[in-house]
Amino acid sequence: MIVRISDDSLALACGADAVAQAFVQKGCEVERVSSWGMHWLEPLVEIDGVGWGPVTPDRVAEIVDGGADDLRIGTVADHPFIASQQRLTFARAGRTRPTSIDDYEATGGWEGWKRARGMAPLDVIAEVTESGLRGRGGAGFPAGIKWRTVAEAQAPRKYVVCNADEGDSGTFADRMLMEGDPFQLIEGVAIAAYAVGAQTAYIYTRSEYPHAIAKLEEAIRRAAPIIAPLHMEVRMGAGAYVCGEETSLLNSLEGRRGEVRAKPPLPALQGFMGYPTVVNNVLTLAAIPHIMAAGGAEEYARLGVDRSKGTMPIQIAGNVKQGGLYEVAFGITLRELVYDVGGGTQSGRPVKAVQVGGPLGAYIHPDQFDIPFDYEAYAAADALIGHAGITVFDDTADMGAMARFAMEFCAAESCGKCTPCRIGAVRGAEIIDRIRHGGRKRDTIELSPVMHNAPKDAGRLPEQEIGLLTDLCETMKFGSLCALGGFTPYPVMSALRNWPEDFIRDAKAARDESVA
Ligand code: SF4
Repeated sequence: MIVRISDDSLALACGADAVAQAFVQKGCEVERVSSWGMHWLEPLVEIDGVGWGPVTPDRVAEIVDGGADDLRIGTVADHPFIASQQRLTFARAGRTRPTSIDDYEATGGWEGWKRARGMAPLDVIAEVTESGLRGRGGAGFPAGIKWRTVAEAQAPRKYVVCNADEGDSGTFADRMLMEGDPFQLIEGVAIAAYAVGAQTAYIYTRSEYPHAIAKLEEAIRRAAPIIAPLHMEVRMGAGAYVCGEETSLLNSLEGRRGEVRAKPPLPALQGFMGYPTVVNNVLTLAAIPHIMAAGGAEEYARLGVDRSKGTMPIQIAGNVKQGGLYEVAFGITLRELVYDVGGGTQSGRPVKAVQVGGPLGAYIHPDQFDIPFDYEAYAAADALIGHAGITVFDDTADMGAMARFAMEFCAAESCGKCTPCRIGAVRGAEIIDRIRHGGRKRDTIELSPVMHNAPKDAGRLPEQEIGLLTDLCETMKFGSLCALGGFTPYPVMSALRNWPEDFIRDAKAARDESVA
């Protein structure tokens, strides 16, 4: 009996190793595969295509005897969570052994690479452009245009850098891909390098991803003869949120402080060590092999809505019954994702908010759940898709506290280069504190002689503090050098817009106390 169990980090965190060990003790052969992405069922055990989950070691004997019906989910591939997806980037998830080059080849691996190598580099770029693929890291910049800029630049050396510094809370698609299907990323990076004429490629990730690093390094070693003469290696950062920003990442990769560089020059013209560099994230590059395989670009361009083409691996997390990875064409609504796919909240309480796009994404109110999941529709709603992580909150969430957390997060992760972010985030947290505690208290400290002329009872009401917070958010949004400071206003302002009562709740209490 062959038992398939994932060795993805999430499965490991849920006890997959102990379950695997229990099957071995029962005389079974255990095969470690990638995760299907049904994380609420991990550790998920699959025997002859039929699944059980979540499994604990004490249930193993029953499963071997054909029992444990309460855990049985039927044929895994037919489970509604899997069957309702359009998996292109994660087509192999749950089906292959991550570092088996045989499994990779047997499931269509290297087809895109072989086809690309038979084409002129500029034709490869034209096909990527036709597919409509946009960078999956945040801004959604068309991949083909970036590649063409690098390809046409005149320079003795060029680079491809894969941004695998997945820092958004609630996101795990990059890690899952690197741990579960590393050859696909390697193939995508190799195609990009061929298309732009790069001789060296780096995959930059963070020290918190040891399993992904180990799998990638093993896979790169095995793939080396196939992708030669391209040199590819994994580089590890210490894990700073701002190192997900491309220029900051390049600084870190060069061994310098992870501080954002002013643009221009664009990294496409002067990137790593001053040479033209393609910087794309994991999901962008991992989509390339499918696009380059015969007919892939056409299929990709057919999926999605308007300018948001193809599929998006969406990570569903937070207070949700069925958390996991769900890949689907753009255009699905948050309502479908939260209720039909995610099954509502884990707590069983009503959904209050969903944050889309990581810690700097807007909090979406249930009234907005029918906005189609696409870049332009989200931008029009003053929100962003980012890395497509969605985090669900029930009605016990305090949105004033969440807004403060956004400012705090920005203050902690700021690289310090520009004032709106470095100082604005600290002031933002202070203003939110004042709003929540009844407005500004009278100044009691004489700060300087000029203050003698200032009115001594110049405290601000919460309403006035809200005006100040709004102004500060505008300054951060339009005056920050990069997206860390520039996007922090999204969670703050969306929380303030949709749940103002969560900001002044404490203020009322504070006033009542002072009256009493
Ligand atoms: S916005 Fe923040 S992280 Fe970005 S450059 Fe300015 S200080 Fe650095």
